[in-house]
Amino acid sequence: TDAAPLIRADRSKLYMADLESALHYSLRVEAARASALSGAQLAAFKCYVAALVKYFPGRPCVQTYLQTLDGWLRNWTEPELPRDVLKEAMKNNKDASSPAVLPTNVTWVGCQGSERHFRGYPCGLWTIFHLLTVQAAKNGPDKELPLEVLSTMRCYVRHFFGCQECAEHFEAMAAQSMDRVSSREEAVLWLWSHHNEVNARLAGGDTEDPKFPKLQWPPPDMCPQCHKEERGVHAWEEPAVVTFLKAHFSPANIYMDYAE
Ligand code: FAD
Repeated sequence: TDAAPLIRADRSKLYMADLESALHYSLRVEAARASALSGAQLAAFKCYVAALVKYFPGRPCVQTYLQTLDGWLRNWTEPELPRDVLKEAMKNNKDASSPAVLPTNVTWVGCQGSERHFRGYPCGLWTIFHLLTVQAAKNGPDKELPLEVLSTMRCYVRHFFGCQECAEHFEAMAAQSMDRVSSREEAVLWLWSHHNEVNARLAGGDTEDPKFPKLQWPPPDMCPQCHKEERGVHAWEEPAVVTFLKAHFSPANIYMDYAE
């Protein structure tokens, strides 16, 4: 049936079902809308898949899927990539000696809205990019390629994100300050603080799910040590925020409930 399953998600956890649903949607639906990819758009797509291969902590069959797609894209040297050819290359291969599978169903768990038009994909996409910035900070030299993941996200959003207005807002924020990020840890904080800026702008608006009000995140009950007061004014305790983000967006915090 079309009825959404009754799900009780824990907001302190990440769910693989959300991550894989968002990956499936971004790769096979959103990025495959144009009749062909070329130029900067094709480059943005290749860059996104390459970052996923490096930093997405997927299940073995999903890792294989991403690696296979990445290898295939690297071999595609013609200026144009027709959608039908790309879609064929993005099909699952269950029969290979090491299966390459990204599930094709969309199930929102932590990202499930109280109604169908709330949350879902945009929530999943934020989660993927937070996870990637954190994995890049954990697994690479702090001062090397600090913008690797953020510029991948900037290109993805600019060229593919279906919400045009969102993409314009995000590009404006990126143009203003992204270039000043000088380490991988700063990249983690940049995405966190700008996501909070978006939350503040959208709080109380009509895209807000009434059951999931936009908060400055993480709220005090999730991370008391992230908050402090300076002369009566709320402030973030940034070292504690970094520690919290590294634990929250870690493979150990990804749960398999509802994953296919
Ligand atoms: P989301 O904001 O999607 O957050 C998803 C999850 O991430 C939350 O449940 C929480 O667990 C965690 N989280 C929340 N805040 C943070 C943080 N600061 N750091 C780390 N993790 C956090 N919608 C518009 O209406 N207008 C826009 O201009 C707009 N711009 C967008 C730009 C981008 C790049 C993206 C990806 C989305 C944008 N959206 C915009 C959609 C909007 O931001 C939300 O994604 C959507 O409303 C769903 O909200 P949500 O309640 O699921 O939480």
